[in-house]
Amino acid sequence: QALNKILDIKGCIRVFCRVRPFVLTNKRRIHEPISVESEKIVVKSGGSRKEFGFDKVFPQEASQEEVFVEVEPILRSALDGHNVCIVAYGQTGTGKTFTMDGTGNLPGVVPRALKELFHQASLMSATSFTFSISMLEVYLGNLRDLLAPKPSGRSYTVSRCNLNIQTDSKGSVEIEGLTEVQISNFTKASWWYTKGTRVRSTSWTNVNEASSRSHCLTRITIYRLGDAPGAKTEVSKFWMVDLGGSERLLKTGATGQTLDEGRAINLSLSALGDVIAALRRKRGHVPYRNSKLTQILRDSLGMAFLLLLLGNSNESLLNSENACDGSKALMLVHVSPYEEDVGETTCSFTFAKRAR
Ligand code: ADP
Ligand code: MG
Repeated sequence: QALNKILDIKGCIRVFCRVRPFVLTNKRRIHEPISVESEKIVVKSGGSRKEFGFDKVFPQEASQEEVFVEVEPILRSALDGHNVCIVAYGQTGTGKTFTMDGTGNLPGVVPRALKELFHQASLMSATSFTFSISMLEVYLGNLRDLLAPKPSGRSYTVSRCNLNIQTDSKGSVEIEGLTEVQISNFTKASWWYTKGTRVRSTSWTNVNEASSRSHCLTRITIYRLGDAPGAKTEVSKFWMVDLGGSERLLKTGATGQTLDEGRAINLSLSALGDVIAALRRKRGHVPYRNSKLTQILRDSLGMAFLLLLLGNSNESLLNSENACDGSKALMLVHVSPYEEDVGETTCSFTFAKRAR
C-alpha cells in the first residue's frame, strides 16, 4: 500500500521556467523568439514552432517575490523534516544568480529563505530549531569548502578542495570535513552567506566566467527537536544550488582549461538530468554515481523514491500531509529572451522536458 502511494505520487520534482527580461545590451531583440502562454512557452525560430510545458512559468516581468512564493512550500517541507532542494539551471547570463542571490534591493531565493526559516521557526513554539549553514563549490569535479576557517585565497590548489562524499547504509549523504556554521539569527546567516559568495568570487580572476564554470551549493541543515519527553532530534537538509552555465562550450571553439571546465559542467548537468528523468519516470535504477553533483544531492532529490529503493515503508512519513506533495525538489530553468540565444534556449527546454 505504501508502495502504491509512492508510485502514485506525481512529481516529487517540479520544473519551473523563468524568462529573463530584456536589458540594455547589444544583443538583438527583434523577432522575440519566446512567448509565454500561461504555463507553456512557445519558441518560434526559423519557421519552426515548438511548445514546452512547465509546472509553472515566470514571465519576464515576474518579481523576486513571485518566485519566492513558489519556494515557500519547499521551505515548510524542510521545517517538517524533509530533505529538499532548489536548483537554478540555465545558460550563463540568464539570471540564475539573480534568482538565487538577487541584488541588494531585490534579494533572491537564498536571503529570503534564510529570513523565512527563522520567522517560521519562531512561530512553531512546540518545536525548537537549530540551523546551520554550509557552502561549497564544485569545480572540475572537486569540492571546495567556501566557509573553511582559512579561505584558500586565489588558488584552487590550496586546502579544502577535495572533500569526500560518503553515503551511509540509510542512504544519507555526508560530506566529510565540510564546515558547518551554526546560525542563530538572520543577520548571522546572511553574514556567512555573503562571506561564502565572496570567497567564491574573489578566488577567480573573472567573476562572471568563474560562476559559469562551477556549481555553487548552499546547504542549510535543520535540527528539529520536539517538546515531547525523550523526543529525538530530526535532521533535514535544505539545498539551494546555483548551477554552472548550461551552454555547450564544445561548440564555441573553447580550448584547454576552458574546454575542460565546460566538459565538466556539461557532464555533471547531464548526470543531473539523467537522475531527475529516472526519478520522474520511477525507473528502478537512478544513476546518482555519475557526478559529484548528483552524489551530493542524492538524498535530497526525489526522497520518496529513495525510500522505495531502500525498502523503507515508513507509513507515518509517507502518509504525512507533505510526504511528497510535489514540493520536495524544484528546478528553475532560466532562459534568455534573445533571438541569438534561441539554440541554447531550445536545449534548456529539451533538458527540462526530460525532467518532466
Ligand atoms: P547567470 O547567473 O545565469 O549567469 P545573472 O544572474 O548573473 O545570470 O544575470 C545576468 C545579468 O542580468 C545580471 O546583471 C542580473 O542582475 C540581470 N538579471 C537577470 N535576471 C534578471 C531579472 N529577472 N530582472 C532583472 N535583472 C536580471
Ligand atoms: Mg551566475
